[in-house]
Amino acid sequence: MPFPHGDVENLIRETADAIRGAALVVVASGAGMSRESGIPTFRDALSGLWASYDPEDLATEPAFRRNPARVFGWYAWRRRLVRAALPHPGYAALVELEGRVPEVLVVTQNVDGLHRRAGSRRVLELHGSLEQFFCLDARHPFPAAAVPEPVADGELAPPACDRCGSPIRPGVVWFGEMLPERVVAEAWEAAARCQVMLVVGTSGLVHPAAELPRIARDAGARVIEVNPEPSEVSAWADVVVRGTAAAVLPRVVAALKGEALKG
Ligand code: NAD
Repeated sequence: MPFPHGDVENLIRETADAIRGAALVVVASGAGMSRESGIPTFRDALSGLWASYDPEDLATEPAFRRNPARVFGWYAWRRRLVRAALPHPGYAALVELEGRVPEVLVVTQNVDGLHRRAGSRRVLELHGSLEQFFCLDARHPFPAAAVPEPVADGELAPPACDRCGSPIRPGVVWFGEMLPERVVAEAWEAAARCQVMLVVGTSGLVHPAAELPRIARDAGARVIEVNPEPSEVSAWADVVVRGTAAAVLPRVVAALKGEALKG
């Protein structure tokens, strides 16, 4: 349930005040960050053509081995959605934050690349990227430009690795797989060092990414959530702004700049 108007304004001011005093702000973003750019969260995405599948049918290695064309087709569909999407004003606000705080780091669970496309300079992609590819068995890299474009939504046979013949898979982290080690080390270090963590658009259900806000809190950071719905973080976050990323983040930056808040 949304807070009354006045409360949101105070919460946005409180957020801006916390950010103003911070040397390092970490933004932990999830699928909800991209929803207003037209990219569905998993819950929204499993509709229409894909309604009868669980994420486990589409985002695991066993699923890919069972039916490579189905899984590759699902990722081709998502890649097409992402290419057609534009970063919304919430993304631009996070870029602007970089000019107002000594250090800003975005740690995202998203695989859509929108933070980078918007212009954020330091982005850690915990779950990889839809624009990267490698082969299933040996992880030989494969150029995105050589991946076939689907003619229609549905199944799409993956190409084969030119070095070993193994099928090419998307460069995302599937359920049950390890996150990239270097990315994790950097993200966990920053979570423990930041003064503010902005948690935007994540349900906090997918581990280990879900641990980041607790690491920040335990190390003494202020944890601020931006999400229109309750999440795992809502119960204990220092500030909870019930609103969407595109609506709230530009207002936080406006408050940082001392501009009057608009309704
Ligand atoms: P999730 O789908 O579990 O949760 C989405 C959260 O976003 C929910 O708490 C919801 O209330 C919130 N939300 C919805 N609309 C919002 C808005 N406009 N502004 C702010 N918040 C909003 O997402 P998750 O926690 O990221 O975990 C799902 C997994 O699926 C992750 O691993 C993620 O990488 C992957 N995924 C990524 C994308 C993408 O790259 N865009 C899309 C779907 C799923």
